[in-house]
Amino acid sequence: MADWIESEKCQFCGKQAKQYAFAAFVCESEECVDKAREERGGPGGHMKAKMQKQNLVNFEEEAKKKGKK
Ligand SMILES: [Zn+2]
Repeated sequence: MADWIESEKCQFCGKQAKQYAFAAFVCESEECVDKAREERGGPGGHMKAKMQKQNLVNFEEEAKKKGKK
């Protein structure tokens, strides 16, 4: 167990930190982990944005295919 984290607080809500994620001390809340990820602009967030864009493109292409046939 990591004893050092006992004295740390969540950087977003101020609760007792439970983990160190995306270069930030965060509690167990998924919301706070998400905030840490967004602030970091990590690969996870970037991938997600990229995937959403791809889905949008695919959707548009599907519409075009259907239009042609
Ligand atoms: Zn928190």
